[in-house]
Amino acid sequence: MRERNLITASMKFTHFVFLLVITLALLIEPAISADQVIALKAARLFDGKSRALTQNGVVLVQGDKIVDAGANVAIPPGAQVIDLADATLSPGFMDAHTHVTLDLTNYQAARLRELQVSTSAKAYSVIPAARATVEAGFTTIRDVGARTYRSHDYLDVSLRDAIAKGIVIGPRMFVATCGIGATGGHFDDSAGFRDGLFGPEPDYTDGIADGADAVRKTVRFEVKNGADVIKAAVSGGVLSLTDEVDVPQFTPAEMAALVDEAHRLRKKVAVHCHGDQAGREAIEAGADSIEHGSFLKPETLTLMKNKGTFLTPTLLAGEYIKGKLDSYPPALQAKALAAFNTRSDMFRNALKIGVKISFGTDAAVFPHGQNAKEFKLMTDLGMPPIDALKSATANDAELLGVSQKLGTLEKGKLADIIAMPGDPTQDITATERVSFVMKEGKIIRNGPATAAPTKTAARDVLEEMGADF
Ligand SMILES: [Zn+2]
Repeated sequence: MRERNLITASMKFTHFVFLLVITLALLIEPAISADQVIALKAARLFDGKSRALTQNGVVLVQGDKIVDAGANVAIPPGAQVIDLADATLSPGFMDAHTHVTLDLTNYQAARLRELQVSTSAKAYSVIPAARATVEAGFTTIRDVGARTYRSHDYLDVSLRDAIAKGIVIGPRMFVATCGIGATGGHFDDSAGFRDGLFGPEPDYTDGIADGADAVRKTVRFEVKNGADVIKAAVSGGVLSLTDEVDVPQFTPAEMAALVDEAHRLRKKVAVHCHGDQAGREAIEAGADSIEHGSFLKPETLTLMKNKGTFLTPTLLAGEYIKGKLDSYPPALQAKALAAFNTRSDMFRNALKIGVKISFGTDAAVFPHGQNAKEFKLMTDLGMPPIDALKSATANDAELLGVSQKLGTLEKGKLADIIAMPGDPTQDITATERVSFVMKEGKIIRNGPATAAPTKTAARDVLEEMGADF
């Protein structure tokens, strides 16, 4: 009996030692991997701020940070070397204008789907979109409006947090919840439906506000619910049924309240704006960026230049809509064409005047993951390729207020690093073929992308309807 007790005791001790060793190993193991230096090598390097590429680029990464970057940086012994050969290293791209929780690639299907699906069903359907975006090299996005009609589940907030926790693979997100707009304006989802169909008029809880005090309350409400940035529709839009595309939708007093309240709460203000009058008033009120800007006149662009307001041109959205114009309702076709016909001159004028350009695409209007196609549209209209690259790195970092941590390949910055084949200053479409993505020191992709899902959210609804597409 005693012997048995002794055996049991010795077994318990062995067991204890075994568990102790395992525990120590687990405790020590991450420390070792965090100390491990990863050396990324490529024929060229774009650092996010210089006007020329660096030859023989090397970036050293330790943990989640860059510890050195430049030409022919000495690689410490024991470093894990990843040689990307004839490629260009770059800071992770940023897109200052996405709607990653939405799929508007088929307008009619999207409109029906909004009325049918639950927020949780929508949440699952956006996981591939988040992944496609980061795998395309966009390690940071500003997601400027994620409303689900008459639902107060903030899908962008929960997706942002799920990505930050590592539950879902996707870009770092800065989100706007619903965004803020006026009754009957671009953000009023009940416009175009029979009055009263969905119960009472939408209010601040739906991001709809009229009057300066109501606007302030809505800013506070959105920040309370997780908004990192305030988005407002200050002029009409293309994909809304009952407004004119360029009319002002907030008064100067409402805009002043919007910007003042947002800035007091240390949030930037991004305004959806096509029209010139609304643009001028928003810039005067102190908005941080004008999104779209289709009808902005040279005088208004000069005001932007003087005030340091960013322009986020979203050329790709207009391009995509124009490519399949027939699939939109006639009222929207006319608005899309009007905006499309002025935006190229507006963009050329903005370049000439020297307005700060932030890279943004309006992803959701076109399929997620194709964001980089914006680069070619920018350079086709006369933007030097190096400036287009800067718009998606250092400029967006400045607009988002994260220049201390992101946007350039420099010692101490977070290790968001991508690589694309060849030289993007010679062939800008190289940005569409990103083959290596690291986010905060973790490799998300080195080689082929994850296969895109065969279904998208919009196709799902069309299939259910038995529609021909
Ligand atoms: Zn948008």
